[in-house]
Amino acid sequence: MKYLSSSRIHLFNQCGLSYNFKYLQVTGLKDETVDWFANYGTLMHTVLERIARKEIPLLDMAYREFDAGFPTCNVPDDQKPTYYTQGRDSITRKFQELSTLRILGVEVEFTFHIAFGIPPIHGFIDLVYEDEKGRLIVRDYKTSKVYGKSELDRQYQQFIYSIACKHLYGRYPFKFEYDFIRFDEQKDFIITERFVKLGELKMKAAWNRMKSGPYDPNYNPFFCEHFCESKSICPIYLKKKGY
Ligand code: SF4
Repeated sequence: MKYLSSSRIHLFNQCGLSYNFKYLQVTGLKDETVDWFANYGTLMHTVLERIARKEIPLLDMAYREFDAGFPTCNVPDDQKPTYYTQGRDSITRKFQELSTLRILGVEVEFTFHIAFGIPPIHGFIDLVYEDEKGRLIVRDYKTSKVYGKSELDRQYQQFIYSIACKHLYGRYPFKFEYDFIRFDEQKDFIITERFVKLGELKMKAAWNRMKSGPYDPNYNPFFCEHFCESKSICPIYLKKKGY
Protein backbone atom coordinates (compact mmCIF):
# COMPACT_ATOMS: atom_id res chain seq x y z
CA MET A 1 0.00 0.00 0.00
CA LYS A 2 1.43 3.35 -1.08
CA TYR A 3 -0.07 5.33 1.77
CA LEU A 4 -2.47 5.21 4.72
CA SER A 5 -5.23 7.74 5.25
CA SER A 6 -8.04 8.31 7.68
CA SER A 7 -10.61 7.25 5.07
CA ARG A 8 -8.75 3.97 4.43
CA ILE A 9 -8.61 3.21 8.15
CA HIS A 10 -12.26 4.12 8.41
CA LEU A 11 -13.28 1.78 5.60
CA PHE A 12 -11.28 -1.07 7.12
CA ASN A 13 -13.01 -0.52 10.44
CA GLN A 14 -16.40 -0.32 8.71
CA CYS A 15 -15.92 -3.55 6.75
CA GLY A 16 -12.66 -5.47 6.32
CA LEU A 17 -13.92 -7.25 3.22
CA SER A 18 -14.90 -4.05 1.46
CA TYR A 19 -11.43 -2.63 2.24
CA ASN A 20 -9.86 -5.82 0.91
CA PHE A 21 -11.80 -5.60 -2.37
CA LYS A 22 -10.98 -1.94 -2.83
CA TYR A 23 -7.35 -1.66 -1.75
CA LEU A 24 -5.78 -5.11 -1.65
CA GLN A 25 -7.36 -7.15 -4.40
CA VAL A 26 -7.93 -3.91 -6.33
CA THR A 27 -10.87 -5.33 -8.28
CA GLY A 28 -11.48 -1.97 -9.93
CA LEU A 29 -15.16 -2.58 -9.26
CA LYS A 30 -17.30 0.48 -8.63
CA ASP A 31 -20.84 -0.62 -7.94
CA GLU A 32 -23.41 2.10 -7.89
CA THR A 33 -23.52 4.01 -4.61
CA VAL A 34 -25.58 6.88 -3.27
CA ASP A 35 -23.46 9.90 -4.13
CA TRP A 36 -25.63 12.95 -3.50
CA PHE A 37 -24.37 13.41 0.03
CA ALA A 38 -20.72 13.26 -1.06
CA ASN A 39 -21.50 15.67 -3.92
CA TYR A 40 -23.06 18.11 -1.50
CA GLY A 41 -20.04 17.81 0.81
CA THR A 42 -17.67 18.49 -2.07
CA LEU A 43 -19.64 21.56 -3.13
CA MET A 44 -19.63 23.00 0.39
CA HIS A 45 -15.92 22.29 0.83
CA THR A 46 -15.14 23.93 -2.51
CA VAL A 47 -17.08 27.11 -1.75
CA LEU A 48 -15.53 27.43 1.72
CA GLU A 49 -12.07 26.73 0.35
CA ARG A 50 -12.43 29.44 -2.29
CA ILE A 51 -13.71 31.93 0.30
CA ALA A 52 -10.73 31.16 2.55
CA ARG A 53 -8.33 31.61 -0.38
CA LYS A 54 -9.99 34.98 -1.13
CA GLU A 55 -10.93 33.72 -4.58
CA ILE A 56 -14.53 34.60 -3.73
CA PRO A 57 -14.32 38.13 -2.31
CA LEU A 58 -18.06 38.85 -2.04
CA LEU A 59 -20.83 37.01 -0.23
CA ASP A 60 -23.12 37.27 -3.26
CA MET A 61 -20.50 35.51 -5.36
CA ALA A 62 -20.37 32.70 -2.81
CA TYR A 63 -24.15 32.34 -2.95
CA ARG A 64 -24.03 32.24 -6.75
CA GLU A 65 -21.37 29.53 -6.72
CA PHE A 66 -23.41 27.47 -4.29
CA ASP A 67 -26.64 28.00 -6.27
CA ALA A 68 -24.90 26.95 -9.50
CA GLY A 69 -23.55 23.74 -7.97
CA PHE A 70 -26.51 22.72 -5.82
CA PRO A 71 -28.70 21.28 -8.63
CA THR A 72 -25.84 19.03 -9.80
CA CYS A 73 -25.58 17.41 -6.34
CA ASN A 74 -28.85 15.53 -6.99
CA VAL A 75 -30.11 15.97 -3.44
CA PRO A 76 -33.39 14.02 -3.12
CA ASP A 77 -36.46 16.23 -3.58
CA ASP A 78 -37.74 15.78 -0.03
CA GLN A 79 -34.35 16.90 1.38
CA LYS A 80 -33.66 19.77 -1.00
CA PRO A 81 -35.22 22.65 1.00
CA THR A 82 -33.35 21.66 4.18
CA TYR A 83 -29.96 21.14 2.54
CA TYR A 84 -30.29 24.28 0.44
CA THR A 85 -31.17 26.47 3.44
CA GLN A 86 -28.47 24.92 5.62
CA GLY A 87 -25.90 25.40 2.85
CA ARG A 88 -26.79 29.06 2.36
CA ASP A 89 -26.81 29.72 6.11
CA SER A 90 -23.43 28.02 6.51
CA ILE A 91 -21.95 30.16 3.77
CA THR A 92 -23.29 33.34 5.40
CA ARG A 93 -21.71 32.41 8.74
CA LYS A 94 -18.42 31.14 7.34
CA PHE A 95 -17.97 34.08 4.99
CA GLN A 96 -17.99 36.41 7.99
CA GLU A 97 -15.87 34.19 10.18
CA LEU A 98 -13.21 33.38 7.57
CA SER A 99 -12.69 37.06 6.83
CA THR A 100 -11.59 37.55 10.47
CA LEU A 101 -9.21 34.58 10.77
CA ARG A 102 -5.48 34.61 10.32
CA ILE A 103 -5.39 31.75 7.85
CA LEU A 104 -2.13 29.84 7.35
CA GLY A 105 -3.29 27.09 5.04
CA VAL A 106 -6.27 25.90 3.03
CA GLU A 107 -6.69 22.33 1.79
CA VAL A 108 -3.13 21.66 2.91
CA GLU A 109 -1.64 18.43 1.56
CA PHE A 110 0.57 16.38 3.88
CA THR A 111 2.54 13.14 3.93
CA PHE A 112 4.47 11.92 6.96
CA HIS A 113 5.85 8.73 8.49
CA ILE A 114 5.19 7.56 12.02
CA ALA A 115 7.37 4.43 12.07
CA PHE A 116 9.47 2.15 9.89
CA GLY A 117 7.34 -0.49 8.16
CA ILE A 118 4.18 1.60 8.18
CA PRO A 119 3.13 3.29 4.94
CA PRO A 120 3.32 7.07 4.94
CA ILE A 121 0.20 8.84 6.09
CA HIS A 122 -1.33 11.13 3.54
CA GLY A 123 -4.22 13.55 3.39
CA PHE A 124 -5.45 17.12 3.14
CA ILE A 125 -6.32 19.51 5.98
CA ASP A 126 -9.31 21.75 5.27
CA LEU A 127 -8.06 24.77 7.20
CA VAL A 128 -5.18 25.82 9.46
CA TYR A 129 -5.28 29.18 11.21
CA GLU A 130 -3.87 31.04 14.20
CA ASP A 131 -6.05 32.27 17.03
CA GLU A 132 -5.62 35.63 18.76
CA LYS A 133 -2.84 34.17 20.93
CA GLY A 134 -0.91 32.88 17.92
CA ARG A 135 -1.83 29.26 18.61
CA LEU A 136 -2.44 26.89 15.71
CA ILE A 137 -5.96 25.60 15.14
CA VAL A 138 -6.72 22.79 12.69
CA ARG A 139 -10.20 22.44 11.26
CA ASP A 140 -12.07 19.76 9.38
CA TYR A 141 -15.45 20.63 7.87
CA LYS A 142 -18.25 18.10 8.12
CA THR A 143 -21.56 18.18 6.31
CA SER A 144 -22.87 15.20 8.28
CA LYS A 145 -24.95 15.32 11.44
CA VAL A 146 -23.04 16.26 14.59
CA TYR A 147 -21.05 13.29 15.88
CA GLY A 148 -21.85 11.82 19.27
CA LYS A 149 -19.15 10.48 21.58
CA SER A 150 -18.96 6.99 20.06
CA GLU A 151 -18.70 8.42 16.55
CA LEU A 152 -15.95 10.82 17.66
CA ASP A 153 -14.08 7.92 19.27
CA ARG A 154 -14.04 6.13 15.92
CA GLN A 155 -12.35 9.03 14.10
CA TYR A 156 -8.65 9.31 13.28
CA GLN A 157 -8.50 12.75 11.70
CA GLN A 158 -7.96 14.58 14.99
CA PHE A 159 -4.78 12.55 15.54
CA ILE A 160 -3.54 12.42 11.96
CA TYR A 161 -4.03 16.12 11.24
CA SER A 162 -2.45 17.19 14.51
CA ILE A 163 0.69 15.17 13.80
CA ALA A 164 0.66 16.43 10.20
CA CYS A 165 0.63 19.96 11.56
CA LYS A 166 3.88 19.35 13.42
CA HIS A 167 5.47 18.18 10.15
CA LEU A 168 4.07 21.12 8.20
CA TYR A 169 4.46 23.99 10.68
CA GLY A 170 7.00 22.69 13.18
CA ARG A 171 4.56 22.59 16.09
CA TYR A 172 1.49 20.74 17.22
CA PRO A 173 -1.77 22.64 17.07
CA PHE A 174 -3.39 23.90 20.23
CA LYS A 175 -6.73 22.57 19.08
CA PHE A 176 -8.39 20.39 16.46
CA GLU A 177 -11.97 21.19 15.58
CA TYR A 178 -14.64 19.28 13.68
CA ASP A 179 -16.87 21.95 12.25
CA PHE A 180 -20.37 20.63 11.52
CA ILE A 181 -21.29 23.44 9.22
CA ARG A 182 -24.94 22.54 8.58
CA PHE A 183 -25.66 22.77 12.30
CA ASP A 184 -23.25 25.54 13.31
CA GLU A 185 -21.71 23.28 15.92
CA GLN A 186 -18.12 22.28 16.65
CA LYS A 187 -16.51 19.40 18.50
CA ASP A 188 -13.03 20.26 19.73
CA PHE A 189 -9.98 18.38 20.92
CA ILE A 190 -7.23 20.10 22.87
CA ILE A 191 -3.94 18.65 21.67
CA THR A 192 -1.51 17.46 24.33
CA GLU A 193 1.59 15.26 24.26
CA ARG A 194 -0.50 12.40 25.64
CA PHE A 195 -3.09 12.91 22.90
CA VAL A 196 -0.40 12.70 20.21
CA LYS A 197 1.10 9.54 21.74
CA LEU A 198 -2.35 7.97 21.85
CA GLY A 199 -2.84 8.88 18.19
CA GLU A 200 0.43 7.23 17.18
CA LEU A 201 -0.52 4.08 19.07
CA LYS A 202 -3.95 4.02 17.46
CA MET A 203 -2.47 4.38 13.98
CA LYS A 204 0.10 1.64 14.57
CA ALA A 205 -2.61 -0.67 15.91
CA ALA A 206 -4.84 0.11 12.94
CA TRP A 207 -2.04 -0.68 10.49
CA ASN A 208 -1.23 -3.96 12.26
CA ARG A 209 -4.84 -5.05 11.75
CA MET A 210 -4.98 -3.75 8.18
CA LYS A 211 -1.78 -5.41 6.96
CA SER A 212 -2.66 -8.94 8.02
CA GLY A 213 -6.41 -9.04 8.40
CA PRO A 214 -8.68 -10.87 8.89
CA TYR A 215 -10.74 -9.00 6.31
CA ASP A 216 -14.10 -9.99 7.65
CA PRO A 217 -17.35 -8.75 6.20
CA ASN A 218 -19.44 -6.53 8.42
CA TYR A 219 -22.96 -6.63 7.05
CA ASN A 220 -24.76 -3.39 7.73
CA PRO A 221 -27.84 -3.17 5.48
CA PHE A 222 -27.72 0.63 5.15
CA PHE A 223 -23.98 0.88 4.46
CA CYS A 224 -23.87 -2.16 2.18
CA GLU A 225 -26.79 -0.99 0.07
CA HIS A 226 -25.84 2.67 -0.22
CA PHE A 227 -22.07 2.92 0.03
CA CYS A 228 -20.30 -0.35 -0.75
CA GLU A 229 -18.65 -0.33 -4.18
CA SER A 230 -18.07 -4.10 -4.10
CA LYS A 231 -21.44 -5.48 -3.08
CA SER A 232 -21.99 -7.33 -6.36
CA ILE A 233 -19.12 -9.69 -5.49
CA CYS A 234 -19.70 -9.87 -1.74
CA PRO A 235 -20.93 -13.37 -0.76
CA ILE A 236 -22.66 -12.07 2.39
CA TYR A 237 -24.56 -9.39 0.50
CA LEU A 238 -25.56 -11.78 -2.27
CA LYS A 239 -26.75 -14.34 0.25
CA LYS A 240 -28.80 -11.76 2.15
CA LYS A 241 -30.37 -10.73 -1.13
CA GLY A 242 -31.28 -14.36 -1.87
CA TYR A 243 -28.94 -14.89 -4.85
S1 SF4 B 1 -21.63 -5.55 0.88
FE1 SF4 B 1 -21.39 -5.04 3.04
S2 SF4 B 1 -20.49 -6.84 3.98
FE2 SF4 B 1 -20.18 -7.01 1.78
S3 SF4 B 1 -18.15 -6.12 1.37
FE3 SF4 B 1 -19.67 -4.51 1.11
S4 SF4 B 1 -19.77 -3.47 3.09
FE4 SF4 B 1 -18.82 -5.46 3.42
